[in-house]
Amino acid sequence: LIKAENVTVRHGDLPVLARVSLALTAGEIVTVVGPNGSGKSTLLRALLGIQPVQEGRVWRKPQLRVGYVPQRLHIDPALPMTVRRFLSLPRRVSAPAAQAALARTGVGDLAERQMTRLSGGQFQRVLLARALLSQPEILVLDEPTQGLDQPGIAAFYRLIEDVRRELGCAVLLVSHDLHVVMSASDRVICLNGHICCEGAPSVVSNAPEYRALFGLGTGGA
Ligand code: ATP
Ligand code: MG
Repeated sequence: LIKAENVTVRHGDLPVLARVSLALTAGEIVTVVGPNGSGKSTLLRALLGIQPVQEGRVWRKPQLRVGYVPQRLHIDPALPMTVRRFLSLPRRVSAPAAQAALARTGVGDLAERQMTRLSGGQFQRVLLARALLSQPEILVLDEPTQGLDQPGIAAFYRLIEDVRRELGCAVLLVSHDLHVVMSASDRVICLNGHICCEGAPSVVSNAPEYRALFGLGTGGA
C-alpha cells in the first residue's frame, strides 16, 4: 500500500530521519516505537505525503484511501461543536454513516455531546470513528492511546484489532505502550532517527538495540 525507500528528512540542519525504508502491505498492523523526538510523527507524515523528504522516495498505491489521526488535534473551546458536527467536517457525511462509525468505535450514544466534554478515551474513539468514514484501506494513527489508562489502552487495541478484522484495513500506528504493542502488532519498527531494529514482536522485544533504547536491560522479554 505504501513504501518508503531510503527516506531522509531534515528540519533545517537537524537530521530527523536517516535513510528509512519500510513497506506496508494490506491488512497488517505495524507499530512504530521510539523515544520522544525520534522522528515517529515525521515518518508517518512523510509516508502520507504531507512532509517533504530531502532524499529517498515514498510510493503510495494510487488513490489509496487513508484514515489519519494526527498526534495533536486542537478543538477550539470557543467554537462549540457536537460529535456529530465534528464527523461531518471537512466533508459532509450522511447521518447514518456517522452514526454507524460512532457505533463501530463504541461511542454511538455520544453523537450530540460537545467535543470539549468528552473523556480522553471517548475523544480518541471519536477520532477513530472519523478516520473510518473514508472506508480506509489503511489507518494511520499517531499515539491514539495517549492519555488513556491501562484498561483504556487495552480496550482501544482490541477495538483496533476488531476494526482491522472487519474492514480488512492495514494499520500503521505510533505508540509508547510497549507492552500492549508487542502483543497486538504483526510487526514492530523501532525508530531512533533511523530504524534500529524491526520485525515480529518476539524478535524486536529481544533485540539488543530495542532493549538498549528503552533501558530494558538484557535478557528475556
Ligand atoms: P514524540 O514521541 O514526542 O511525538 P516523535 O518521535 O513523533 O516524538 P517528531 O515529532 O517526528 O518526533 O520530531 C522529530 C524531531 O524533529 C524532533 O527533534 C523535533 O523537534 C523535530 N521537528 C519536528 N517538527 C519540526 C518542525 N516543523 N520544525 C523543526 N523541527 C521539527
Ligand atoms: Mg510524535
